[in-house]
Amino acid sequence: MVKPNRRSRTLRRVYRRTPGSRTVLQFKKRKPSKAECSQCGRVLAGVPRERPYKMQRMPKTKKRPERPYGGNLCSSCMRKAIIAKARKPNEE
Ligand SMILES: [Zn+2]
Repeated sequence: MVKPNRRSRTLRRVYRRTPGSRTVLQFKKRKPSKAECSQCGRVLAGVPRERPYKMQRMPKTKKRPERPYGGNLCSSCMRKAIIAKARKPNEE
């Protein structure tokens, strides 16, 4: 019988080809959920879905789009937010 933690689906299963051309089953941690727009909830493009240790090693420019509210709002919500801010300059 396999190890109890290998029987659950907590870890994802990845088939890897070894240098000796054998296919082995590896157990990897699952990726976090996709980043969503904080206003409309749409899945954000250009935001990688990786574990924190991998995000730490990644350059900042690869973690979110380089524009105002990049990584927080989707492009259409950003446009709306900027227009709203321009019309009401005293409010945040
Ligand atoms: Zn949005």
